[in-house]
Amino acid sequence: MRFADIVGQERPIRVLQQAMRTGKLAHAFLFAGAPGVGKMSTARAFAAALNCQNRGEDACGVCPSCHKMAKGAHPDYREIAREDERTGIVIDQVRAVIKSAQHRPYESRYQVFLIDQAETMTTEAANALLKTLEEPTADNVFVLVTPAPHQLLPTVVSRCQMLRFGRVPEEDVRRWLHERQELSDEDAALVAALAEGSIGRAEHMPVEFLKTTRLDLFTQLAEATDDSPTQALALGVKLREAGDDLRDALELLAGFVRDTVVWQTSGDARRVRHRDAAPLIERYAAKHQTRDLLGKIRALVYARRLVERNVSRDAIVDGLCLELLAEGPTTFARGRLPR
Ligand SMILES: [Zn+2]
Repeated sequence: MRFADIVGQERPIRVLQQAMRTGKLAHAFLFAGAPGVGKMSTARAFAAALNCQNRGEDACGVCPSCHKMAKGAHPDYREIAREDERTGIVIDQVRAVIKSAQHRPYESRYQVFLIDQAETMTTEAANALLKTLEEPTADNVFVLVTPAPHQLLPTVVSRCQMLRFGRVPEEDVRRWLHERQELSDEDAALVAALAEGSIGRAEHMPVEFLKTTRLDLFTQLAEATDDSPTQALALGVKLREAGDDLRDALELLAGFVRDTVVWQTSGDARRVRHRDAAPLIERYAAKHQTRDLLGKIRALVYARRLVERNVSRDAIVDGLCLELLAEGPTTFARGRLPR
């Protein structure tokens, strides 16, 4: 939980350290950026650094305050996130925060409040928070974290200092995987190429599955000679074999089709993610129009959502495979499922 452990976010961290150094600290920050790029880790490191008893530019990691942060038991640090996907962050959660914000820190210089997925606050909750943000006190610091700042109330955004978190450079992800996660050079390069600049994604990438099944899947897709049911069946068998990894398999296929589009539109092999599949991408590209490929990506995204909603996997796989091999526009993503 130190700035030093965060990969590839030097710029926002520099801004935070500068604010700590000069004492010109905003009362509320908005950390905006794609999922998995380090917003939460940075927010926690910032909270630790603010209350570290050694008062340097980074948390020391050894003082009592840093210890409490590391154990998740710091009395002056509080984190909230939505507890229910349907309701988002509700007013009672925000009220609890506001109540704490009304008293002084128990033992530190600051009370730090982190609101994750801040865009999911209900209007009621956001308005309640707004009142507190409008009457800041010197010993409270709020950090709102979101991948979608435009979904927050503009009045809330205007009360915050916004810091943008960009994607982590592929080389940084690769090094992190190799050095910290102890992946082999080759595996680290493979995962980093697919992680889209997200440490969070890289961390949860199914490495073995990637190595064993990925190229097989792409081969099935690219080498099918026509849109016959037999070919679709063969691809379907592969997908069913994926079992619990079906969601990952669909994501990989979407990445493959996306690469095909990139290849068709830019002709630049360096821009594709599945570089080792370049010959297959080329073959698939020769068979399909860009517009139809975009339809296939939609179908894959749709299929992934159905998997997440526990729709029968056989129905998903059968419908999808026919679409992926078919020439011409797709209908699967329009909500029609095969019976
Ligand atoms: Zn410390």
